[in-house]
Amino acid sequence: MKHINVAIFVPHCGCPNQCTFCNQRAISGTTTPTTAEDVIKAVEIALEKADKNSSEIAFFGGSFTAIDRDYMISLLDTAYPYVKNGHFKGIRISTRPDCINEEILSILKAYGVTSIELGAQSMNDNILIHNKRGHTADDVIKASKLITSYGFELGLQMMTGMYMSTCEDDLMTAKKLIDLNPKTVRIYPTVVLKGTELESLFNDNKYSPPTLDESVILCAKLLKMFHDNNIKVIRLGLHSGGGVDENFVAGVFHPAFRELCESRIYLDITKSKLKEKGKYDIFVNPSELSKMIGQKKSNISYLLSEGFDVRVKADDSLPIYKIRCVNNDS
Ligand code: SF4
Repeated sequence: MKHINVAIFVPHCGCPNQCTFCNQRAISGTTTPTTAEDVIKAVEIALEKADKNSSEIAFFGGSFTAIDRDYMISLLDTAYPYVKNGHFKGIRISTRPDCINEEILSILKAYGVTSIELGAQSMNDNILIHNKRGHTADDVIKASKLITSYGFELGLQMMTGMYMSTCEDDLMTAKKLIDLNPKTVRIYPTVVLKGTELESLFNDNKYSPPTLDESVILCAKLLKMFHDNNIKVIRLGLHSGGGVDENFVAGVFHPAFRELCESRIYLDITKSKLKEKGKYDIFVNPSELSKMIGQKKSNISYLLSEGFDVRVKADDSLPIYKIRCVNNDS
């Protein structure tokens, strides 16, 4: 038995918007509306393997609370019995910050929804306007507070490298999301997809996404900020599949993006600790050895080029993102 999120995509039909970067069809990989039968099929397949204490049914992909009310209730009505009879811990949904109010939250509560994720994307109104998000940063704050006050688990999603956004803007967004005290966060570097307005901006040289290196440096900082505030980053970078691969035009879409960011965190920590050039043993938690070493030993090679001859060793007393350095020169 393992933790399973039964991901059920509810495509664009719920969304009143067309953000510059969004090609909902490409992300969901489907254009036909999800039916109650689709929900039953997906849940029944997962039933055998799902750990009932941690697994969830997740409605993602669109703006769940903006879809036709009867349709929304029919999907919840199909999923809820699996929660009521103890096969799943709860139901997660994702939606827009301006599609949350007390009435909607009461319905979600009655149908076993436990977690609500909001696509905040940025906390800068100018960036939200330029990306045609159709909501404000204040909408994110109000919706987050309401969700928390109803006892739901709050999740927030942010994007980095959006059109008109700088690293400083993205760091500011992360700080403001931390202030809202979400349980979980997802971070998505902006990807240019075929058929979007962002693709036109990209083709007209009005937008160019950050490079992989720039995104790794920024997202390493964000990951560490959320970690330091006990907020779990449950996703870093877009998933492969579901239409993104075929519609990818530009941006950061790397299969090991999170690992690259975690390695960067260890490199930054090590650089801040080592002052005198020489030989060192660097101790990290055993689960973090490969991250400290870096892909293709990139961290070790970089440190050597800076005059630090480093060997990486395990110390299970160390928590994640903590290192201990021992000088071996004498
Ligand atoms: S709000 Fe979400 S679903 Fe709607 S257009 Fe924007 S990204 Fe796509």
